Amino acid sequence: MSETPTRARADLPTVEAGTRAYWDAAKAGKLLIARCRACGKVHHYPRPFCPSCWSDEVEAIEASGRGTLYTYSTVYVNDLHPFKERLPYIAAMVELEEGPRLMTNIEGCDPADLSVGMAVEVDFRPLTEEFDAIVFRPAATR
Ligand code: ZN
Repeated sequence: MSETPTRARADLPTVEAGTRAYWDAAKAGKLLIARCRACGKVHHYPRPFCPSCWSDEVEAIEASGRGTLYTYSTVYVNDLHPFKERLPYIAAMVELEEGPRLMTNIEGCDPADLSVGMAVEVDFRPLTEEFDAIVFRPAATR
């Protein structure tokens, strides 16, 4: 068997020209989504065209960071570094109040306290000097 090639960390994004601004914004504590100037719809993840009307007149806008828990699963087994060191963790899909859904993690709470439809808000967990993970936490109650 040949030696395993060095791989990038599995929890870091592959950055392309069109996604650099998104990750830089996350590092600065902002969640960006995209809005189409042609049809007005918003989408996420970042793309150079609108998935509704195919216009390339898309612009980045800052999301409110508020959303609801659409679905989730508590992960107890994952042998892949660095996830193995984070077990158990909550993999989730959050629906932003602007409409788009994104895959993320829910942090800062016990899995037993989660319920579908609950209010969550974005947070940013440092991964490296360059990247923050975009995660969500239960929304602060007022
Ligand atoms: Zn459009």
